[in-house]
Amino acid sequence: MPLIGKTIDEKIWNYLKAQGLTDFGAAGLIGNLQAESGLSSTNLQNSFENAPAKTGGMGYTDASYTAAVDSGAYTGFVSDRAGYGLAQWTYPTRKQALLNFVKTMGRSIGDLEAQLGFLITELAGSFPRVLADLKSTTSVQEASDCVLLNFERPADQSQSVKNKRAGYGQAFYDKFAKGSADVMGYTNSSLATVKLISPNKNSPRNKPLDIITIHCFVGQVTAKRGCEVFQPTSKNASCNYVVGLDGGIGLCVEEKDRSWCTSSAANDNRAVTIEVASDTAHPYAVTAKAYAALLDLVTDICRRNGKRKLLWLGDKAKTLAYKPAADEMLLTVHRWYAAKACPGEYLFSRQAAIAEEVTKRLGGASAPTPAPPNTATDFESYTVRVTATNLNIRKGAGTNFHSAGYIKPGVYTIVEEADGKGATRWGKLKSGMGWISLDYAKKV
Ligand SMILES: [Zn+2]
Repeated sequence: MPLIGKTIDEKIWNYLKAQGLTDFGAAGLIGNLQAESGLSSTNLQNSFENAPAKTGGMGYTDASYTAAVDSGAYTGFVSDRAGYGLAQWTYPTRKQALLNFVKTMGRSIGDLEAQLGFLITELAGSFPRVLADLKSTTSVQEASDCVLLNFERPADQSQSVKNKRAGYGQAFYDKFAKGSADVMGYTNSSLATVKLISPNKNSPRNKPLDIITIHCFVGQVTAKRGCEVFQPTSKNASCNYVVGLDGGIGLCVEEKDRSWCTSSAANDNRAVTIEVASDTAHPYAVTAKAYAALLDLVTDICRRNGKRKLLWLGDKAKTLAYKPAADEMLLTVHRWYAAKACPGEYLFSRQAAIAEEVTKRLGGASAPTPAPPNTATDFESYTVRVTATNLNIRKGAGTNFHSAGYIKPGVYTIVEEADGKGATRWGKLKSGMGWISLDYAKKV
């Protein structure tokens, strides 16, 4: 398989990704290779270069050393303890294995593809735990430290060396991974101690992950019980996570998949949805433990998905029109998509606070603080005139809800608005009879 890419770093990145490393794992490894060799596969350890033999050098350059090893003119490759190649292989056993590997491939000792093949073979054979970490890690720093401490093992393993290598790794991550589809949503939160995967989902999600939608469960359940509710296919609903009343967290639909939670495919393909155990009546309050766990979970979701800011714009139209930057996550609410109180006043009134606190924890710049949104309780009611005869009153906001009778022409008070099937916008009647299509009502 020829290497794919225009530049050396791109070729190495694509090769490592094809081996199943996560973006974070590939970045952590390539950052270490950068520190070792500057990504040059013919790199001879500098202290052995050029210097005359009597001062410990060999009088070789990268190119002349490589050529002499290839031609057989130099026979000290295995035993000279001179660091060489991408990973600066030094020890005789490892240099012998590298030499055997490239010879088997019929390549030069300095061949990039052969060295990458050897790198993966060596990891799989002698450092299987390092390779497993690189295939599962969700942190560049973690990946970089793992390679540094267990694979490269340089003399200097200080924090400043760790940070420097992780910094290289982060630069590769930013260059190659940001915005790519597979950064998004392919890991799950390690905060989830319960895992009960629901069949109610679409796999995988068809949009990058840039929304979090917090729901109220309407019941003070544990995470396990909450997940159980979404197991039957007949339930036709699910969520990515459940936060229980005791602060326990359950994984119900993996982040890579779209849950059926917010009455909107467009929303849920972009969203991680979270059901939080709540009271069963207004304002659907949640326990302090559940709220604390929710903040931890939302922060973790943002962090793993490369987000540094969580934004609450307070309004559906504004949110849908907003194009989030690569490091931004948006909050949406269920009530924008269905005639529901969800997430309930308790959580709805805290959306801005959640955005602010999570952004603070992520170390991002503080989120804009928009004007407080209309809520169901402070929604400014208004009056409309209905002239149509036989206009249906629906039990919910949409033609998919049963009719609750017909409204007579006249003036009515609207106390809430919502989106729904069959009309541009639905309005809730003050009488509590139900909802009418506002397409047939004129503001007065
Ligand atoms: Zn909901």
